[in-house]
This record gives sequence, C-alpha cells and structure tokens, in this order.
Amino acid sequence: MNICIVGTGYVGLVSGTVFAHKGHNVICIDKEEDKIHMLKEGKMPIYEPDLEKMVVENYKAKRLKFSTDVGEGVRSSQIIVIAVGTPPSEDGRADLSHIEQVARQIARHINEYKIIVEKSTVPVQTGEKVQLTIQRNIKQEFEFDVVSNPEFLKEGAAIEDALHPDRIVVGTSSERARKVMQELYKDFGAPIIMTDVKSAEIIKHAANSFLACKISYINAVARICELAGANIMEVAEGMGLDRRIGRQFLNAGLGYGGSCFPKDIDAFERISQELGYDFRMLHEVQLINKEQRIHFLKKVEEELWILKGKVVGVLGLAFKPDTDDMREAPAITVIHELQKKGAIIKAYDPQAMHNAKNILEKVEYCQDPYAVAQGADCLIIATEWDEFKKLDLAKVKQLMNHPTIIDGRNIYDPVKMIEMGFNYRSVGR
Ligand code: NAD
Repeated sequence: MNICIVGTGYVGLVSGTVFAHKGHNVICIDKEEDKIHMLKEGKMPIYEPDLEKMVVENYKAKRLKFSTDVGEGVRSSQIIVIAVGTPPSEDGRADLSHIEQVARQIARHINEYKIIVEKSTVPVQTGEKVQLTIQRNIKQEFEFDVVSNPEFLKEGAAIEDALHPDRIVVGTSSERARKVMQELYKDFGAPIIMTDVKSAEIIKHAANSFLACKISYINAVARICELAGANIMEVAEGMGLDRRIGRQFLNAGLGYGGSCFPKDIDAFERISQELGYDFRMLHEVQLINKEQRIHFLKKVEEELWILKGKVVGVLGLAFKPDTDDMREAPAITVIHELQKKGAIIKAYDPQAMHNAKNILEKVEYCQDPYAVAQGADCLIIATEWDEFKKLDLAKVKQLMNHPTIIDGRNIYDPVKMIEMGFNYRSVGR
C-alpha cells in the first residue's frame, strides 16, 4: 500500500518506519525542513532504541521517503495518516490547530478516493471536525473517509510497541475504509478492535487517563506507607500480582510526565466538562501528581536545610528512561524549584541533555554521573536509567561533598545504601 504520514515526530516517524518495514511504500512529511534533511542523511531527529537502523534500512530500500511537500504525499498515497502534535493550550484543552491545518492541506490535494487516518491523540468528536474541514476545502467531488486509529506506543520502546501492539483500534463508519485498514494491519498479530470514530477517540483518552490514575493511586499509597512506616515496593508487589490489577504502572516516584499523560488527562477532563460531565476523579489524579513533586522537594530541603549555595546533582532529566524527550519531565519542576531557592545544579542524562539545554538554564551539564557527584551536597535520581542502577556507589560516595541521595525512582536498596553510609531517602519506603 502507499501510505503518507503527515507529522514526522515520535509517532509519525516510528509508525511510518514500521509500515515500511512491513513492506509498504511510505512517505513521511514534516513542515520542519531541518528534520527532513537530517532524516535523508540517515540522522535521527529523536532518540529511540533501534530506530536509526530501521529507518536507514528502509530508506535505502526506497520503501521510506521523506519530504516537506504534503501535496506530493497525498497525491501518491491511498492512506494519509495525521500524526502531528496536539499540545495543550493555555486552558488545558488540546490545541488542534495543527490538525486543522493539515486537514485543509490534505483536502487541497485529494485526487481520488483517500482514507484519512487520525493517529494523533485528539478529543472525542475531532474526527467529525476533520471530516467537515476536508469537505469544505476539497477541490473536486472526490470521496474520502476519516478513520480514527489512535497510537499506543510508548517512547523508549516505540519500535517494539509499534511492531507488536497489544491491540489495534480502528474507528470508522465506512465498510470500504474498514477493509483497507484490516488489510494494512493484517500481519501485526494483534487483535483489531473495529468501532466507530468517537469510541476510538475515547479509547485513547480513557486508556491514558486510566494509566495516569494507576500512577497517582500508587503515589498516594506511597505517602501512606511513609506515614505508617511501610514499604511501597512490597505493597505494589502484593497488589500487582492480582491479575485484575497488574504490576505495571504501580511504581511510586516523582509522578508522570512526558508529552502525553499530562496533556491527555487534562484534555479528557476538559472535553468531559464540555460534554456535561464533571470528571472530578481526573482532577484529583492531576493534583496528586503535582503534589508528589512538591513532597519530594520537601525531602531535599529537610536534608539540606538551606539550599542557597548548596550543590545538587541531578541524575536523569528525560521524563522516562530510554528517551531524549524532555516534555513535561518531572526533573524540570524539581530543578526550577531548587534553583529558585538558590541551589547550584549539576546534571547528567544519557540522551536528553541536548533537549534539556533548551529548557533548563544555569545548569552545569556533566559528561557522566561521577562528574555530577563530584563535590555535590546531595544527589537526586530523577529518571531510572539502567546506567544509574549500575553505578559504582562507593566511588560516588567518595566524590560527594556529603553522601546524601534522594531517590525519586526507588532504584536502590535502602538497607544497602544505609550500610554503605549514605544518607538515603526514597519514595514510600
Ligand atoms: P512530535 O511533536 O514529536 O511530532 C509532531 C510532528 O508534526 C513535528 O515534527 C512537527 O513538526 C510536525 N507537524 C506539525 N504541524 C505540521 C504540519 N502542518 N505539516 C507537517 N508536519 C507538521 O509529536 P509526537 O510525540 O509524535 O505526537 C504526535 C501525536 O501522537 C500527538 O497527538 C500525541 O499526543 C500522540 N501520541 C504520542 C505518543 C508519544 O509517545 N509521543 C504516543 C501516542 C500518541
């Protein structure tokens, strides 16, 4: 099949590459010329494990093309996938201006029957608006169908998730589009949920919000563990082995961040409100998430007392391991708050430092974790990269000005840390 992807970011580039890997002809479009130029040279604009190899392979095999020209992509493809960003606007609603712009652009170039696939995460009823926008802007009476096909990949494991999804959701009212989508996904080995456009849109928001609920729930339980003197890791294990609950997303820590959860939960709450339902539970989920960072900062202050002039080393900046994505990363709030109180910040992240430099100023970016530890009054673990789990902690201790570690991701064993002579605090233990 000939497929055009509009928006070559985390979702567009990964899903386009995976479709090419499956043997389809894919053209990935982006408005950012630099990004397209880099990709043509085999350089990745984002970090994602295994992505580069797969992009280069498929580009060389001419199954994967890159362009800034939406018209070229639309005219040459039967399926046009919209994968542009839907960032939060100031009032918390999803900003759908990129979607609208792309819908108008697509409409102008439709030259035969096309399937327009909404892959970006959007509030329910966006599909109807995309349909209307295309109808208003189409040049001739060509037929087209709008399909909702939300993406569930996780950054850090995006290729793996796109190749082996748990399920594929396809929302459409058109039998013709349904058949094409079934053909597109026939050898992904995952159940395909065929539904209507609105239900598909809600599945994505509801799934992300549910996962965020799990995170805030375990973080609230972690607070109770701290107050009562229990251990959240063992509590989570005991809960998670119940198959109705599951162990995933029961990791207490600094709370969720990233480009999806914060904005999607907010957008789901807003659209619910607009539709006439006050989804109070989501409000609490967001509140608990915010409080988790404030509570963590209190621990740093309790240990260091006066922050002015103290050197705080931050290990991990990305919102989660195995990505360079800094969007809504908890480390941003933590660092900003510490800086406000006069702390001197040193930091290291294996992949996210180039992005962090655009967001976090007055930070001494170090080449490795040991350089961060050198002379630090306190170390903070903000992202659970494997690299940090394997550190030579004796060396870290020796390098630090004072061996205090505040672990926001529970990566070390508290008993061992105390035996080693660290002043160690973590979350819910
Ligand atoms: P991104 O910011 O990484 O990529 C979006 C791309 O779209 C950018 O490269 C941007 O330049 C491009 N773009 C914007 N307007 C354009 C236009 N008019 N023409 C051509 N290109 C245009 O975003 P992302 O993380 O890939 O997310 C895309 C969508 O997928 C969002 O709705 C997001 O919520 C959803 N999603 C993201 C993830 C994730 O883990 N990142 C997972 C599932 C779903």
